[in-house]
Amino acid sequence: MTFDNVRGRSTPGRPSPTPPIVSGTPSVVQSLRTHSGGSVPFSVEFNPPRDAAGEARLWRAARTFERMHPAFVSMTYGAGGTTRDRTVRITGALAEETTLLPVAHLTAVEHSVAELRSLVGAYADSGIRNILVLRGDPPGDPLGEWRKHPDGVAYAEELVRIVRDLGDFHVGVASFPQGHHRSPDLEHDTAHLAAKLRAGAEYSITQMFFDVEHYLRLRDRIAAFDPIEGAKPIIPELMPITSLRTVARAEELCGRPLPPAVMARLRKAAGDGPEENNAAVREVGIEIATEMGQRLIDEGVPCLHFITLNFAKATGEVLTNLGYGVTAAPISA
Ligand code: FAD
Repeated sequence: MTFDNVRGRSTPGRPSPTPPIVSGTPSVVQSLRTHSGGSVPFSVEFNPPRDAAGEARLWRAARTFERMHPAFVSMTYGAGGTTRDRTVRITGALAEETTLLPVAHLTAVEHSVAELRSLVGAYADSGIRNILVLRGDPPGDPLGEWRKHPDGVAYAEELVRIVRDLGDFHVGVASFPQGHHRSPDLEHDTAHLAAKLRAGAEYSITQMFFDVEHYLRLRDRIAAFDPIEGAKPIIPELMPITSLRTVARAEELCGRPLPPAVMARLRKAAGDGPEENNAAVREVGIEIATEMGQRLIDEGVPCLHFITLNFAKATGEVLTNLGYGVTAAPISA
């Protein structure tokens, strides 16, 4: 698709589509609506574990969050055959053995369209109907040259169409508060996000950010560019910083340095001594995520999505600070 036709806008007045309930599995958007009475829903992101110990840790985290009733849990998708098989298996197990609503991330990296279709089929066989569609980054070097598989797709937008055409799937996509690192400017970035939503995505989850203003500006941009698509939920992604090492991970994941004001608070907590004051850094990291979460709640976000790295403790503390707790059942509208 060329940039020109990406810029086409939705028909004014077109009703915002309400996704139907599919085979008893709610969509993410439906889950957000069900949880919307009383408090803003939250959700968590897991990563495919590498080994049995990692898998046990993931299950501990999943069981802890299950008692707090997240609107959904998402499972990232990485390169590598064994990891992929394990990812499909564990995501399926989350659907089958817990009350959680799993969302499977799916990336186009190194996959033909036939392989992508078969992966979606494997997810469907495990009862997964919610897919977060992504292009993915080049393996090894996220900033390296992107090469499409000869029989694959070039952009997430095409994959959204493929997954939607496969049947009853609910699709989300990625959005970027500061623009994707490959977008020449925010205007292009906004146009491509609108195109992904127009192709059938029902919501987006943002890249992690540390300045709430960036999220608010993204929300304004997409609403001004395309009021219909802009009305779809934009779920902000947060990650509590627990050490200066996590800062490096956060910067790698969001492809940008943390804002100077945030870094100054963390460095001050770390102290000048030869050893980082881990406890103080963690405390400030939790404080920052709590402040951001509260501001986002005040700004009326549809959900708070947390990167957990498969640990429940830090995210659990942020949620507790924000007034979430273990409840007998999801809060219903
Ligand atoms: P696209 O939407 O295809 O966009 C890629 C770039 O191309 C952008 O710059 C966009 O503006 C531009 N573009 C889009 N369409 C066109 C067009 N028609 N013509 C010209 N330019 C175009 N990565 C993983 O490997 N596994 C994961 O599980 C994973 N989970 C993620 C979850 C979230 C919430 C986020 C925000 C990111 C995640 N990523 C993951 C990272 C993601 O794969 C990368 O950021 C990737 O570089 C972009 O993916 P995308 O789906 O936004 O791509």
